[in-house]
Amino acid sequence: MTDESTERAGQLPRREFIKAAGAGAGLLLLGSSAAGAEAGDPKEANGGAAVHASPSPDVVVIGAGIWGSFTAYHLRKSGAKVTLVDAYGPGNARSTSGDESRGVRSSYGDRPGTQGELWMLWARESMQRWKAFDEEWGRDLRLNLFHVTGDLILREDWDNFQLRCKLWWDKHKIPYSIVHPEDVRKSFPVIAVDDISAVLYEPDAGVVRARRAAQTVAAAFEKLGGQIVIGRATPSKVVGGRLEEIALDTGTTLRADTFVYAVGPWLGKTFPDLFAKKTRIPIGYVCYFATPVGDHRFTYPNLPSFNFPGVTGWPALPVDNRGFRVRGSERGPTPPQTVATGNAAGSQSATAPAVDTGSNAANANTNASGARQSGQAQADVPPQQQDPDTSDRWANQERIDGSRRFVAHRFPLLKDAAIAQTHACHYELTSNGNFIVDHHPQMSNVWIAAGGNAEGFKFGPKMGDYIAQRVLGTWPDANVDQGFKIPEKEFEPPKPATPADSTRRKPD
Ligand SMILES: Cc1cc2nc3c(=O)[nH]c(=O)nc-3n(C[C@H](O)[C@H](O)[C@H](O)COP(=O)(O)OP(=O)(O)OC[C@H]3O[C@@H](n4cnc5c(N)ncnc54)[C@H](O)[C@@H]3O)c2cc1C
Repeated sequence: MTDESTERAGQLPRREFIKAAGAGAGLLLLGSSAAGAEAGDPKEANGGAAVHASPSPDVVVIGAGIWGSFTAYHLRKSGAKVTLVDAYGPGNARSTSGDESRGVRSSYGDRPGTQGELWMLWARESMQRWKAFDEEWGRDLRLNLFHVTGDLILREDWDNFQLRCKLWWDKHKIPYSIVHPEDVRKSFPVIAVDDISAVLYEPDAGVVRARRAAQTVAAAFEKLGGQIVIGRATPSKVVGGRLEEIALDTGTTLRADTFVYAVGPWLGKTFPDLFAKKTRIPIGYVCYFATPVGDHRFTYPNLPSFNFPGVTGWPALPVDNRGFRVRGSERGPTPPQTVATGNAAGSQSATAPAVDTGSNAANANTNASGARQSGQAQADVPPQQQDPDTSDRWANQERIDGSRRFVAHRFPLLKDAAIAQTHACHYELTSNGNFIVDHHPQMSNVWIAAGGNAEGFKFGPKMGDYIAQRVLGTWPDANVDQGFKIPEKEFEPPKPATPADSTRRKPD
């Protein structure tokens, strides 16, 4: 891409970027005695010395959730001078990245074709990147973020979600196996699988420590010479279609060449004209059940992560056992699924029927993780519950009871387990169900990077690199970018509640 075209697109022009990166490194070296530290080697850049605040950083990333932290990290690794701003701090309790853990899997057979395959491939790449991050920083920071658990997808009968995963895994030679339910029973006798006949297993899937990851990536970014500022950002000076300055609620202002808004569920609140009708932020609830004393069958590495219709979960993780994690509630019987051939129907099997790639494939949206809600909003949801700054995150008894019903059914040894903790946070759903990485249409040097759609965490290391490359103008594949454009489509207006709503499945 030429300098002109990057300029046009609001990216840092390459020659400006290189010049600015060099200047930034000089500033970062103030007070540091690290010899030979240069912009091209940001890991050495500040030698652990305090970084001086600069009135004019080149890139300001707003939002230190997992997307913003990894974006800042990759920008800094590329030599840019970066400031990361967050209203409450990296991995804070109100952010969507502030929960204990997040699943990392590549089973996206429930997503539309191009998007589903790309997510699958990027999720696979992210698994490698999480491992690489642990290798690079784990010893230094004394922790391990990603735990390979393997992931079981269990169904009473084959559904199109499983079959399309299988189809794409075959196509891309991604390791998986079809497991006979009897083998699940033998390997993991704590799971009740009597009515299960269709099981897929992805061995490389796992679980990542979420809040710790957001904080660790931010800490790594700081070690690379990046600067973290706590404060709530508001665009404060726009000149000629460019944002020149943001104001923080601390009274400070920050100027930059480029701004990246990675504000997760705050997107609609930050830019209401653009996103109020294109994003929805229902609250999701997670239960962590206390594992039985002296019983390690519910603790990593003795159990894989799992997905039953409407429910995902995984074992408690070291080093601080936050509990056996369950998201979602037990539901009624699964409606019959339509598949092209039914050789496994009704019988426990270690083979799968052919996928329905025709019109039924569109119905593959059959709840892989329990988060495939349509983004419906109800007019009677109080306004404070639709605002990530003011929403009450207390999990009500109905949520806890639903998760306990699931546990009693599928993990009966845990039926009376105490609740170790619960967590609630907002999803960040977009009207087209895909991520947004695009320019702000009225401010050419502002990027929007948000809309994880209840799946965004695992992609953090890949998305951060991708967003950084978009900002720097080095990303080569414009076809990919098309899918991440701000959607045209808007959500349906909120519906008033009906009596039936109390029995309708809520987002989980
Ligand atoms: C219940 C639940 C379960 C999920 N399970 C999974 C899973 O298993 N696997 C998976 O991959 N994903 C999962 N997700 C999705 C995943 O957690 C999110 O996609 C991801 O964490 C979003 O990260 P983010 O950085 O975009 O947003 P956030 O983590 O919300 O970060 C946004 C940050 O922006 C800051 N901010 C906002 N406005 C401003 C401002 N004006 N000034 C300064 N700072 C500001 C906030 O303080 C916040 O820290 C789940 C989501 C939910 C709700």
